[in-house]
Amino acid sequence: MKLKSDLSTRPPAGDAKTRAYRADMAVQFIHCVGPQRAKLLGRLGLETVSDLLRHYPRDWQDRRHFSRVHQLVPGTMATVMGTVKARSTFRLRRGLTMTKIMLDDGTGFLAGTWFNQPYMRDRFSEGQRVLFYGKAEFYRGWQMANPDFELFETAEEDFIHLGRIVPVYPATEGLSQRVLRAVIYEALAHIPAKLPEIFSSEDVRALGFAPPGEALRQIHFPESEAARDRARQRLIFEELFLQQLAVVRQKQLYRLEPGQAFVVAGEKVRNFRQHLPFVLTGAQERAWTQIATDLGQARPMHRLLQGDVGSGKTVVAGMALCAAVDSGCQAALMAPTEVLATQHYFTLQKLLNPLGIVVELFTSGTKAKERREQAQRLAEGTIQVAVGTHALLEEHVVFARLGMAIIDEQHRFGVEQRARLRAKGAEPHVLVMTATPIPRTLALTVFGDLDVTTVDELPPGRVPVQTQCLSRGASRQAFAAVEQEVAAGRQAYLVFPIIEESEKLNLKSLLKEFEHLHEVFPHIRLGLLHGRLPREEKDAVMSAFKQGEIQVLAATTVIEVGVDVPNATVMLIENGDRFGLAQLHQLRGRVGRGREASFCFILADPKTEEGKRRMEIIARVGDGFKLAEEDLALRGPGEFFGLRQHGLPDLKLADLIRDADQIEPARALAGRILEKDPELSAPEHRNLKIVFTAVYGQRERLSRSG
Ligand code: ADP
Ligand code: MG
Repeated sequence: MKLKSDLSTRPPAGDAKTRAYRADMAVQFIHCVGPQRAKLLGRLGLETVSDLLRHYPRDWQDRRHFSRVHQLVPGTMATVMGTVKARSTFRLRRGLTMTKIMLDDGTGFLAGTWFNQPYMRDRFSEGQRVLFYGKAEFYRGWQMANPDFELFETAEEDFIHLGRIVPVYPATEGLSQRVLRAVIYEALAHIPAKLPEIFSSEDVRALGFAPPGEALRQIHFPESEAARDRARQRLIFEELFLQQLAVVRQKQLYRLEPGQAFVVAGEKVRNFRQHLPFVLTGAQERAWTQIATDLGQARPMHRLLQGDVGSGKTVVAGMALCAAVDSGCQAALMAPTEVLATQHYFTLQKLLNPLGIVVELFTSGTKAKERREQAQRLAEGTIQVAVGTHALLEEHVVFARLGMAIIDEQHRFGVEQRARLRAKGAEPHVLVMTATPIPRTLALTVFGDLDVTTVDELPPGRVPVQTQCLSRGASRQAFAAVEQEVAAGRQAYLVFPIIEESEKLNLKSLLKEFEHLHEVFPHIRLGLLHGRLPREEKDAVMSAFKQGEIQVLAATTVIEVGVDVPNATVMLIENGDRFGLAQLHQLRGRVGRGREASFCFILADPKTEEGKRRMEIIARVGDGFKLAEEDLALRGPGEFFGLRQHGLPDLKLADLIRDADQIEPARALAGRILEKDPELSAPEHRNLKIVFTAVYGQRERLSRSG
């Protein structure tokens, strides 16, 4: 419906009665919109008639019945229409003024009141017809504090704004509800009565949907609550359905790409497994079976490997790397931080070197000369496995034959970076890994174009981390636990919430804290790790901690993801309320990696309700999946997962949590349609194709080029 590139520049023909608006017509040509209003509408992102009709109300007001002042009931919401009798502003006390607008509706007086907004006085004039909507209170006469209001200049358009359920829109400065309402009313009145239906008549019947034109009219100007809800139901499903159509389509396109079938049970894979110091868990075996099946096909894999922190995703990735080498290809593993990339490098080197595989580390810390030589070895194919940070994405990093791209902790990267790594090979197999599990319905959307494998089991012998939130005043208890663990030969992390990239000031406070630690733990070997240290020093500190030379590591969140030192059994997090739940869980995942009981102390004095809730949840919930669900419920999907970052347009009406039960049916329908008609070229899908292309056309181009 919305084709921005193809804005119709011709005003519609005909007079008020007969004029007709096309969906793609620019808003400027709507009867009551001039250049000025068009500009304001543009500020809301509304450029075409179609945009306007999809600017859904955020709420509705029932104005079918007005309350008369003499019938008001204190404490109830009411709509009152009257004439302005008096306006006044007076001072209650120093720094507090009250502005009062007095309405008369023929049965009594009602005062609208505003504190410290003297300009409200000039928004009204005596004799004007005004509508107030708010909570009625009686205090020396009837009052409404901060009522919603609407000014009625003329009686001409009353039928739009009165005597019905009226929409309340997300608005912008300079554009009143009244204007928006009138513009949308006008647009609705002059689009064709019947709009193209994108669903088959059987589906419409089965789903109980209102026809599309009817749904639009009823969502804006509902005849009844029931009619509005029926319209909403359709529009929500439609949004989710189009979204699923996009991701399922993408998945289909992936299937059509030619790729290289790997040898999945070759020599290196076999050797790798034989040399592992442990037996794979059932979940790891299942994950590998699924991955190996994908790799064995002559089309590229696009798979997400998700599993709680510590579930052992790295060895599964290791097998995939071996399969690439067995198949004569190079492989890349990209991680979001230098610390993690370095650790992966050491782990993999230990596992892969004995098999004769050449592994090298690529980070931005590498010196220029060394970097050139490394690039050379990679381009020649001498390096078989490249482990690194974003540095792998740089232009001079060229592979001879990249066949396998693995991205660890993928939530730290955007779709675009995923695409860039992929583009360094010719349709390589892609495996993305995440330890931030997301609920299934959300995964269908955010990772809807990927196949999903879940490692749902931890290696045996893991003891759940006992988490305790303490007020900072009670930190002694936590420090005592650290001493105790260290005395027993184990190690500890102390985490400080420093925003890595920023501020010398932060660094200074960290250094001060570190000084202080020497006083708290005079007999303990301490180490300090933060993002500003030069690379060699970072490496030295990490390896000293791994060797046990450092007993307590004070660190910023550089250790958040992936770091693996099984002998560390206690973590103390300072100012824990500065972190989100996912981040706290990641951090906590650094302990509890061995067989010993582990502890996590979170020092925090949360000020907000949400902060308190977070502390309660992290202490109670140990399972990453359950935690993610609670997090999602607490924050909502928008914040939990940047949809934009995943290349998905915003949903206007649907809500991925509230409407979760609609996602699977929407996906099923999208799947049924695309299975029979992948290009949507059948005549019965004509309307669907037009609408789909208008909404998602851009995304498809984007991901194809990626
Ligand atoms: P994550 O899924 O968080 O990336 P890692 O791959 O870092 O987890 O693994 C966590 C720890 O568990 C590592 O020390 C790893 O060596 C160990 N590990 C992995 N698989 C097993 C297994 N099957 N049995 C015992 N330990 C394992
Ligand atoms: Mg990991």
